[in-house]
Amino acid sequence: MSLKKVEQVKKDRCFKLADLIIYGVVILLAAALFIAFFAVRDDSPLRGVRIRVDNAAVYEYSFADGSGGALTEDGTVSVEENGGIIEVTVRAYGGYNVIVIDVAARTARVREADCPGGDCVYTELNRTEISSNNSPPVYCPPHRLVVEPLGYSPSYDDPHIKI
Ligand SMILES: [Zn+2]
Repeated sequence: MSLKKVEQVKKDRCFKLADLIIYGVVILLAAALFIAFFAVRDDSPLRGVRIRVDNAAVYEYSFADGSGGALTEDGTVSVEENGGIIEVTVRAYGGYNVIVIDVAARTARVREADCPGGDCVYTELNRTEISSNNSPPVYCPPHRLVVEPLGYSPSYDDPHIKI
């Protein structure tokens, strides 16, 4: 073997080792991302719905046993049930929001509100709906109202509900 060839083989070996380390790191990284993604996701059927005003829960409903109801008796919340549809009307900050809970479909959405802009209301263009434990909350900032999956706990500072 000539000296040149020996050097070439040595170089190759170094190169292969570096490659292997890079492959290993990439595979570990991909595995970590995969695990993180699925550990954070919660695609189980929606457990329930909570409505808050000024950060305080005013209504809760659990799909598991159909329990729940208004958590305040000051007239803020009125509830009507009609054939598997629960209509929750919340009056706060001089306005109102009508939240509709579909028991069979396990969804909740704001059907009607008199807030300026109406951003919280579910429409064809604005599909704000609570349909899984993973759904982001629906906010109505003018009425300081939040509709969220039961058990939802924001892991970040939520500017909408800071008062
Ligand atoms: Zn609104």
